[in-house]
Amino acid sequence: MRALNFTAGPCTLPVEILEDVQSEFLDFHDSGASIVELSHRGTEIEGIVAEANASLRAAYDIPSDFDILFLQGGATLQFSMVPMNLLVPGRRASYVITGAWSEAAFNDARVYGDAQAAWTADDSALKRVPLASELRVSPTDRYLHIASNETIGGVAFGELPWVGVPLVVDASSDFLARPLPWDLVDVVYAGAQKNVGPAGVTIVIVRHSILPETRKDIGSYLSLEQQVSKGGMLNTPPVFSIYLMSKMLRWIQEHGGAVAMAVEAEAKSKLIYSVVDSSHGFYRCPVEINSRSKVNVIVNLESVQLEKEFLKAAEQEGMLGLAGHRSVGGVRASMYNAMTLNGVRNLRDFMIEFSKVRS
Ligand code: PMP
Repeated sequence: MRALNFTAGPCTLPVEILEDVQSEFLDFHDSGASIVELSHRGTEIEGIVAEANASLRAAYDIPSDFDILFLQGGATLQFSMVPMNLLVPGRRASYVITGAWSEAAFNDARVYGDAQAAWTADDSALKRVPLASELRVSPTDRYLHIASNETIGGVAFGELPWVGVPLVVDASSDFLARPLPWDLVDVVYAGAQKNVGPAGVTIVIVRHSILPETRKDIGSYLSLEQQVSKGGMLNTPPVFSIYLMSKMLRWIQEHGGAVAMAVEAEAKSKLIYSVVDSSHGFYRCPVEINSRSKVNVIVNLESVQLEKEFLKAAEQEGMLGLAGHRSVGGVRASMYNAMTLNGVRNLRDFMIEFSKVRS
């Protein structure tokens, strides 16, 4: 039996997609070979890449002046690739540090050029994202980098901050889980393994007009300009991951795209936050209400021991992956695009029951 899987990524995928993959695995569309045995320069794979592009563009409403790349190396490689390409000498980048991932991005950027922190979260009891008015930026900054959703801390921007500087967005955990204001961004990147597929492929979406002003003294794989000029097929792409992702992207498109995913994410997260907020302190969320993530809901209980018991009892009910990140502990329910409202209702009911029995 399949468990209800709340892991933070890689994560649950729709069972109909997994069955579809299984059914066509040995002989892909009468080609006589498996998808993992076909040349990436052949018509089958080219068709899959083109379809993934088209579904993504439609589901996310990506304007035609943006290029889409399917790369490897995870979002982590983009922590380096973005500054390598965009931080031309004489320019500075600003980073908003709302949690562990944006801090990791900042630390890598400093290796390549002039990067400064526009705002750093303090260790106050409740975590939050800053207001745009709190950001220390200069209008001449090359870009402002944010993580739209911090996967570990469960902190997310409601509206993305606009301070007159182009945004670079690490959208790893809320990619295609809500619409993006494309007029504000130059680059958006995300690993596929949370909202749109399996691990192994990283989506990088680049405003075309920024390419002439990128650095030229970098190797071909790392150069956004060279990647775009080869349509993202500069080398052998992660074929199987793109193939599975293309099915998920079509699924999202058919389910109403980013707009519908945002409505779902709102409804799913509300189910859990409502339990937390009406539990008289049995459950607590360490994030300010306006900064709460809609995809990674962080919940603390009174003691580490009680959290352990909660996780054990949840597992016995077939709910997996509810432990918080190893760096912070606690409980975290990750509810990406493929997690159903019904699945979250089960978690909600379990939480209510657990609090009744244990308080
Ligand atoms: N940014 C965020 C917000 C993430 O959640 C993660 C992974 N959990 C990363 C970056 C790193 O992604 P990857 O493992 O794809 O390199």
